[in-house]
Amino acid sequence: MIVYLNGGFTDHANAKVSVDDRGFLFADGIYEVIRAYGGRPFLADDHYARMRRGLEAIRLPSATADGIAAVADRLLEENGLAAADATIYIQVTRGAAPRRHSFPDPGTPPTVYIATRNTPRPAHDSFALGVAAITVPDIRWGRCDIKSVALLPNVLANQQAKEAGAFEAIFVKDGVLIEGSHSNLLGVIDGEIITFPECNYILGGITRRFVLDLAREIGIPVREGPLFADRFDDIDELFLSGTTTEVMPITRLDGRPVGDGRPGDLARRLQQAYLDAAGLTAAHG
Ligand code: PMP
Repeated sequence: MIVYLNGGFTDHANAKVSVDDRGFLFADGIYEVIRAYGGRPFLADDHYARMRRGLEAIRLPSATADGIAAVADRLLEENGLAAADATIYIQVTRGAAPRRHSFPDPGTPPTVYIATRNTPRPAHDSFALGVAAITVPDIRWGRCDIKSVALLPNVLANQQAKEAGAFEAIFVKDGVLIEGSHSNLLGVIDGEIITFPECNYILGGITRRFVLDLAREIGIPVREGPLFADRFDDIDELFLSGTTTEVMPITRLDGRPVGDGRPGDLARRLQQAYLDAAGLTAAHG
């Protein structure tokens, strides 16, 4: 696999980052993941716009994102993914410099890494049958809107889910189910979709926004507000949204069935709307 690192294209095995890189020392950087279906990046403009906002938020020049779309296209091509279901991974850190907390000297170039990977769509079973999730306390910082590479709480939560045989861990903040370790959470109560509002406590998911727009288009009411964990019995449906997760029904939370324990009607309608909008037919088996 060919990857892009700091201005050049190189074999993945030869791509090396300094031990002084601030991504390594401080998790001082951001990342982005973009889906490609049949080799075509999906919702790419929205991802690049979020990336620019993230760069500004951590005080790196947003122009660092210039030209990345063209690099990503070239990587898909060179890696034989021009017609594949793939993901594009982009990471930008504040560069390599002697370790000190404050920013490195002006002129220190950011580290820019871009890679592509063959990434089949979620297995048909999980799409159709739904997945299990667990809840975990939200121990993250107050700027979860920044797609920071500092993902230790997410890593620990996701591992806990895996060990519980679940697909995702849902962070609970002040009694509210807010989002997953690597996906957003949407619920349905009395025919209305409820999802935590975009703010500093969650990542503003590109898929979340896309799915909310789809819901409005097909006439499903949407409210951005709290889903209280202690109102679990009122929740008819839960589902996740994410770049690789797409629209994924949750059928069990902490071992308890969600609604009737099967993927809900609105989740299924949104799965179909997503497939139609993305020009896809069905999940792969
Ligand atoms: N929340 C978190 C914490 C995430 O890591 C992700 C995926 N990166 C999402 C939500 C979903 O965002 P998106 O739809 O942009 O992939």
